[in-house]
Parts: sequence; C-alpha cells; structure tokens
Amino acid sequence: MREPDFIEVKGAHEHNLQIDELFVPKRKLVVFTGVSGSGKSSLAFDTLYAEGQRRYIESLSAYARQFLGQLERPKIEHLRGLSPTIAIEQKSASNNPRSTVGTITEIYDYLRVLYARVGTQHCTDCGKPVRSSSPEQIVDALLAEAPGCKLTLFAPLVTHRKGEFKDLFEELRGRGFLRVEVDGEIHRLDDPPKLDKKFKHTIALVVDRITARPEDRRRITESVELALREGKGEVRAEAEGKGGASGPKLQFSESRSCCGKSFPELSPQSFSFNSPLGMCPDCNGLGTRNEAAPDLVVPDPSLSIRDGAIAPWASAMERGEGWTFRIVEALAEACDVDLDIAWNKLSKKKRDTVLFGVQGEQKIAVKWGSENSASQGTWGMKFEGVIPNLMRRFRETDSEAARDYYRKYFREAPCDACGGKRMRPESLAVRVSGVGIADATALTVQQASKHFASLTLTRAQQTIAEGALREIAARLTFLLNVGLDYLTLDRSGPTLSGGEAQRIRLASQLGSELSGVMYVLDEPSIGLHQRDNQRLIRTLQHLRDLGNTVLVVEHDEDTIRAADHVVDFGPGAGHLGGKVVFSGSAKELARCKESLTGAYLSGRKEIAVPSRRRPARGKIKVLGAAEHNLRGIDVTVPLGGLVAVTGVSGAGKSSLVNGILLPALANKLHGSLDRVGAHKGLSGLEKLDKVIAIDQRPIGRTPRSNPGTYTKSFDLIRELFAQLPESRARGWKAGRFSFNVKGGRCEACQGDGVIKVEMHFLSDVYVPCEVCAGKRYNAQTLGVTYKGRTIAEILDSSVDDCLELFENHPPLKRILNTLVDVGLGYMKIGQTATTMSGGEAQRVKLSRELCKVQTGNTLYVLDEPTTGLHFEDIARLLHVLQRLVDAGNTVLVIEHNLDVIKCADWIIDLGPEGGQGGGLVIAEGTPEEVARVEASHTGRFLAPLLRRK
Ligand code: ADP
Ligand code: ADP
Ligand code: ZN
Ligand code: ZN
Repeated sequence: MREPDFIEVKGAHEHNLQIDELFVPKRKLVVFTGVSGSGKSSLAFDTLYAEGQRRYIESLSAYARQFLGQLERPKIEHLRGLSPTIAIEQKSASNNPRSTVGTITEIYDYLRVLYARVGTQHCTDCGKPVRSSSPEQIVDALLAEAPGCKLTLFAPLVTHRKGEFKDLFEELRGRGFLRVEVDGEIHRLDDPPKLDKKFKHTIALVVDRITARPEDRRRITESVELALREGKGEVRAEAEGKGGASGPKLQFSESRSCCGKSFPELSPQSFSFNSPLGMCPDCNGLGTRNEAAPDLVVPDPSLSIRDGAIAPWASAMERGEGWTFRIVEALAEACDVDLDIAWNKLSKKKRDTVLFGVQGEQKIAVKWGSENSASQGTWGMKFEGVIPNLMRRFRETDSEAARDYYRKYFREAPCDACGGKRMRPESLAVRVSGVGIADATALTVQQASKHFASLTLTRAQQTIAEGALREIAARLTFLLNVGLDYLTLDRSGPTLSGGEAQRIRLASQLGSELSGVMYVLDEPSIGLHQRDNQRLIRTLQHLRDLGNTVLVVEHDEDTIRAADHVVDFGPGAGHLGGKVVFSGSAKELARCKESLTGAYLSGRKEIAVPSRRRPARGKIKVLGAAEHNLRGIDVTVPLGGLVAVTGVSGAGKSSLVNGILLPALANKLHGSLDRVGAHKGLSGLEKLDKVIAIDQRPIGRTPRSNPGTYTKSFDLIRELFAQLPESRARGWKAGRFSFNVKGGRCEACQGDGVIKVEMHFLSDVYVPCEVCAGKRYNAQTLGVTYKGRTIAEILDSSVDDCLELFENHPPLKRILNTLVDVGLGYMKIGQTATTMSGGEAQRVKLSRELCKVQTGNTLYVLDEPTTGLHFEDIARLLHVLQRLVDAGNTVLVIEHNLDVIKCADWIIDLGPEGGQGGGLVIAEGTPEEVARVEASHTGRFLAPLLRRK
C-alpha cells in the first residue's frame, strides 16, 4: 500500500486548539507559524509528536510498556497518516559532562575506529614509534636502513633495576655468550663489571656482530630471532658505518613494547574515555579534577592567620585551642610564620609553606597534653600543608556531608595526568598522519574537515580507513552547513547553547539517513546569523529529499518563504487563537487578507525604522575582554539607549555579555559572587544602580507561580476579595484567598489544584485534584464572589477579562495593562508557570519591570528576546523595550533579528567569523553607520532594510 500523502488531523483540541480539519502534506518542508501563543507547539509537539510517541509505546511489548507507563492521549478525535516521529528540540544536547560535539554527532565513534585500525603507537617514554614486526620485516628494515654497515644486535634484558646481577652474567657466560652492554658500555662476560646493588642498572646482551649484506640474510635472520628470544620480543641494532662513523640506531619489537613497557593492542575502546581501556586512570575520563584552590582557602588575604585568613582554620583560631590550633602554633614556631600580620604581608615562601606544606624532612613539634597535667610532651610531625590536607581528607572520607564541606574550597581544574585530554597516555600517543586523537578533536569543525581530507596514508591504510573517513567527512559537512564551523569537536555538551545543541542534533539526524520519518523542530534558526540561514534551509530541504516530512515551528521570513507548505495559526493568542488561519504555499499566504503573517510577508504591515537614534548619556567600558575567543578587545556600551550586540554564531556575543558584563555588574551592584570572564578593566559602572537579566527561563518551577502572583496583581485581587461584605462578615482577611496558606485553600492538594504523580523513566505528571476539581480552594471560600466570579474563576480568566472586571481599580489596572502591553492579554492570570513558553515567561518578567517605578539607571540585558516571537509579537516587544529606554534605562540585547537590530540606537557588531576567526569588534555605531561597514556581515544585511523606507 502506498504511503498516504497527507497527515489528516480532525478535531484537535489540545490546550487552545480548535481545529476541525487540517491536512499536512508529507515528505515536504512544512512551516507552522503564527503569533506566540497561537497554538503552533500545541499541534506540532503536544499533539502530533506526542501521539507519535504514544503509538510507538503502544506498539511495544506489554513487558516494555510496564516500564514506560501510560502516556496520555492528546485531545484529538482523528489522526491518520502519522509516520514515526522524532522531535529535535532546543533543550541542551546533554548535561552529561562526558558528552562532546564529537560524541553527540558520532564523529568520535568513527575517529575511534580510524585510530584503532590505522593509528601508529608511539612509546610514551621515548616517543619512538612502537610497531610489532616479524623477524623477516626486521631483517628487511636492517638491510634497507643500514646497507653495508657493521651491525651490533642487542637483546635488552634489564631496564633500570637495582641489583648486582652476578648470577645473570654467570649464566650468560655459561651459555656461550661473550659480551654484555651495561649502562651503555660493553663488557666481556669473562670479566664482568662489579655493580653496586644500591643503584639501578640497564643491561643488554650482545647477540651478534654482523655486516648488513643481502648475501648474509640467513645469518642475520638467525641472529635476529635469537635476539628476540633472549630480549623477550625486543631487539636493538646499532650500526657502524665506514671508518667507524656511527650509523643509525634501530629498535624493533615483535610484541608491542618499547623502553621496557609493553603497549596494549589497539581497539576502538582504547580511545573511549568511557571505557577503562581508554580513560585516564587519574580522572576516570572526566578531564578535570577537583582541586583545592588557594583563593578559596584564603578568601580575604588582608586578614592575619589568627584573624581567620585560612578559612578552614578560622574557627580553631577563634577558639584558640584544640589540635588544629596546636599544629598552627607549632608551624609558626618551626617555620617562623607570623600569625598576627596580614596574610598578604607574609613572604611568598611562607605562604607556600602554609598552603603546600613543609618541604624536605623538617618536622614541626606539636605540643600535646594540657599545660598542668603530668602527661604532656611534644610530637614531631611533618606538616603537609592546608591544600594537600584538604585534598587527602576529601579523598579519604566516606561521608557525603564532609565531602560537601571540603568542596567549598575546591574548584575544577584540568587533570594534570592527561592535561584535560581524558585519555590514558598510551592512547594519546597513537597518531594518524602524525596527529594524535586529542589534537584531532581539539580542531574546529572547519579545521577538522580540511585535516581529514588531506591525511597522508599508505595505500593499504587508505583502503582500511575509507569507510570511517567517509562518515566523518559527511558529518563534518553537515555541521558546516548549519553554521557550526567554529565549534571544536571536544567541546563539552553542557556548554553548548540551546540553538547550537539543536543544530548539532539536526546534523546527526542527517547522518542517520533515515527515511519516512517526521521530524519536528522548534525554531532551528535561533542563534543563527542571517548569513547562515540559507545553509540551514538547504539542510532542512536535504532532510526532506531523503523522503522525510520536516515540520518546523518557525517565525523566520526566509524559512517561511522556502517552505513547501505553510500553516498559519491564529488569529490571536490563547483563547483568541487556536485556529488555522491559512494553509497553503508561502506565495498565497502573502495574499491572504486574514493572515497577520501574510500582511508582514507582503509588506502590507511592517516594523518601522525609528526616525532618530538616541544619543548616549554616558557609557560603560570593558577593557581587554579576553573570555573564550575574545581577542583582548575594548568595548564601549553607550547608556540610555537600545543597544544590540550582533555577529555570526560563535562570534563572542555571549562571552562578552553573559560571560563578562553581566556577572561583573551583578557582583558590583548586587554583591553576588559570580565568576567573571577574563578582562582587564571595567569603567563607568557607577552610572548604573541595577542590572537585570530578563531571560526565557520559567518564572517558577511549581504550579504555584503564575502571572498574577508574579506581577503581584493577585495580591491586590485578594485584598479586594477581603473587602467584600461576605468576607468582612466572616472576618476573612486576604490570606483566606491565598492558595499558598492554610485556611481557604483545598487541603487535599494544598492549593495546587493538581496532584503530582511521579513516573518512572518519564517526567512527572500532574493530574487535577479530585477534591476541589482543580479549583484550588475549599467550598466555603468559593462561596464569595466578585461581580459574579469566585476567586477560582478569576484565576481562570484572561488578563483582558480581568481588565474589564477591575476597571474601577486603578492600581490593579496599571499592572494588568503592562501585561496587555507585552502582548499577554490573552493569558489567564492563573496560568501556571510550568506551562508557559519561554517567550511568554520572558514577557511576564518584562511586564513586572514595567510596573516598577523607574530609577532610570537600570541596565536590562536580554539574550535573543525574539525567540518564539512572530513579527507582530516583535513589534510589541520593541514597543515595550523602547518604553524602558524612554524612562532613561539602557536595554542591551543579543540579537540576530534584523527588525530589532534596525531599531537599535547603537550596534556592537562582533566577528568577523565564529570561534578563532571572531572575537573582534567589527563595527560600532548607529544602524546607518554599521550598514556602511563592508567587513560587517550584519551591516550587509541591514543596509537594504534601511534603504527601503
Ligand atoms: P505557540 O507555539 O503558538 O507559541 P502554544 O501551542 O505553546 O503556542 O500555546 C498555545 C496556548 O496554549 C497558549 O495560550 C499557552 O499558554 C497554552 N498552553 C501551552 N501549553 C499549555 C499547557 N501545558 N497547559 C495549559 N495551557 C497551555
Ligand atoms: P556567540 O554568543 O556570538 O554565538 P559565544 O560567545 O557563545 O558566541 O562563543 C564564542 C566562542 O567561544 C566560540 O568559539 C565558542 O565555541 C567558545 N565558547 C563559548 N562558550 C564556551 C565554553 N563554555 N567553553 C569553551 N568555549 C566556549
Ligand atoms: Zn586525566
Ligand atoms: Zn484540591
């Protein structure tokens, strides 16, 4: 039977959806668009993907199902033609510290195969290649490398071991051998050297002296075989050329050994930092180790030791007694450390003694027993140092609480055994075409794709490596195509941004070459510069051309235009949306009168370029910014305007803003203790009194937060309820109407309205409380009504409705209006935080800021605030941001969206490229100025938009 051409959706009612019928074409690139909250994700993820998952689980055996539990059926009457479904979301690729770009994309798996099959082992001591050779190969090599030379063949017997070795010499002489080499000198066995047994010696047997001539091949072979037998698989040859000139020194091994060590046979596991065969034994493959850090041990160097400079000693010093105190006194005595001067006034040598211990054999004399008792004395001990002591106790303790205590003084540092490379030395020393696997993964995607295309391999190696190399090259190309050329293969999963992670997973899917699948993606263009958009779109089309349905939720104009089919949701958000406004080609959409998206596509509606740019009212300066790829740049941020930080993905925008500026300001203005990225100086901070980052993280993690509680409008509503005659008569205060405290709430669910059901293997599920039917309150409380609505019904009303209800209540109106201003009029004021989208959460946060009385000296920082936003939402967002600026504040955004960038007062464009190719300021100025800078990718895309008006 031929696969149907459409996914048939009938009666979709999840969340706000009210779709009677919709046909989504299969094996096409389909875009779902519409304003934020219109229902795109409700259909794409919560209905189509969820049902795909559910059907998949249903198809499993009963046995497997019992572990997975029952998935709830999405609210849909009829769904036909669904294919197996894979969702590629923005969640970070992996929180597993062992995951890297290489492992997530499987490139690393193929690298392991490559290195195991064609890698050359090298000795970890002397660096020479370790090969296993047969006697014939050894003879061939001798004849080729030292033709006509006089050769001495040695069989190594003892490497660097203590002893006299009298018996060994006697035994060798008895078996007819004539000479040995001891510590580099040749001796006759009938007159062996007298060795000092306290010293270590290296001994090799001289097996033969011969000339490397082809006609003597038989004798040479016999001697080599003998040497290999005596030397347990190893043989060394020293050649002497004409006239006694020294010739090449050669070393061979029948087994894999060198310098007295044998090397393991290679397998792909040898290169896995998850396998005992490959992982660094010191850090178990993590690449980092917890180390006590001096600056954490001594947080305030202006204190003296007695006043508590050494944090782990502080309480003992304060008590002035006890074992630790006595050790400190003994140390002060023995090493002349003054306990009463500031730590930073002590010499470096003395500070090192305290932190890292007494060098050499010197002991300190610690008093024991009490002054006036008979049993007292001193005990000589070696002082190991505060830091080694913390690390030892951390290792040795069994108590998790103790470990937590020590951890306060610890910071992650690269493992010093492997230097952060995660693997054992034998594996790191394997090379392909001269490059070790750790150095290969330290390459960026761009460098790696050049490197692996130009390896020097023998014919035989080429044949063996072909398959793995093909897979590696294909995956690298996918990564290049989605604009990730600047990422290194060893970059760890948890440090990737959501957008990067999503595009990496997209690239991995291309590698799998699956066909007949439906992929659901959530705004793949996030984090991507306009310049790289086309490549991303081609990647999506490629996925489609493999025979898949590619369904993307997207607002990006280029992607909408490139789609085979567009479904436009709306017309509004929440209960004002949930319908399909349009379904068809992008061309027809532009002509569709009812569609807001169509209006923007056709230019009937547009976001206007502001007629003037605000001048700066002061500035802050970052000097010598060098976090990650930033190249010691000086950046000026003008105050009192809307400032956009732009540049291609990986240019260094987050490193500057989230890595340096934000934490530095938070530390200075709010006394936080965040890590501030590398930079030389900061000035102008005194012009600000607050810094607020408004991100897309949920406003709360429990069903207890909602827009009402978050903006405090619900507090006012509760007071209003307490003022009602029924409440007054019963003596009910505002607290009676809270679902957070005992009294008015339903106790069965403690006011949550839902009960959490913990699921094995799946995330927790919330089911409505049976006692209050989800209303959160007890029956008496629900007896009180305002304009006919109970407190529960108010929570279930939209902001728009509430505005009408509380029309005569100015303070409440003011707050509700800010929610309307940010475009959340459709949202229920009791909608739980856990069900809000990132964009919705961000706008709730913005509305709370708008409510506040402005000091005019706040810096707001937003990282890609347009995520999840439609043209119409962006217009509204810009309006809100401009209002914050009009009140005198500064708004700093990291953005790729050109509609936002063109409305900025000032642009800081970083680049020119990502990673090592970026990290510079390419252009700064007004949009008009930046548009004239040729080297700026942003400027190039901006220019036509400014001309258009
Ligand atoms: P879009 O993807 O178009 O931005 P959504 O499908 O996420 O919109 O949301 C549509 C509406 O459904 C919004 O009003 C949103 O607040 C609401 N909604 C989303 N998820 C849930 C949920 N889990 N429970 C209740 N309402 C939800
Ligand atoms: P942008 O925000 O412009 O996309 P980033 O500041 O995130 O760029 O990245 C700039 C460079 O720093 C890139 O090469 C990126 O790979 C690198 N980088 C970012 N975060 C980390 C990190 N946590 N560890 C190592 N390198 C990082
Ligand atoms: Zn290590
Ligand atoms: Zn209840």
